Amino acid sequence: MSSNIRLLKVCQECGKEFIAKTTVTKNCSNICAKRAWKKRQREKKIETAIESEKKVISQEIKNPELSQKEILSIKETCNYIGISRPTFYKLVKAGTLQITRYGGRVFISRNEIKKAFNI
Ligand SMILES: [Zn+2]
Repeated sequence: MSSNIRLLKVCQECGKEFIAKTTVTKNCSNICAKRAWKKRQREKKIETAIESEKKVISQEIKNPELSQKEILSIKETCNYIGISRPTFYKLVKAGTLQITRYGGRVFISRNEIKKAFNI
């Protein structure tokens, strides 16, 4: 029965219209299916990395030198939570950490860091 189904669908990868043979098909070709799969794998990898990073970070927020400041710079935030700059940007990109941009500078509120790591 299912082999008789012909559906006009839009490829989730390249956006082209195509005829799907099953209702679950999301991509127009094997190339697009492969590409979509790779993308999902990459996203999963980043998520896992951030999750494990979170665990380490919540243990490392103990730097007494910075404990009085409410607004931190990127450098201070990295020192504070013990992460590298690329990891910082990953957290921001993932929406885990909220930042404030103003005049080409980036400010990170201590409250946002606490919110990000549930502390
Ligand atoms: Zn496609």
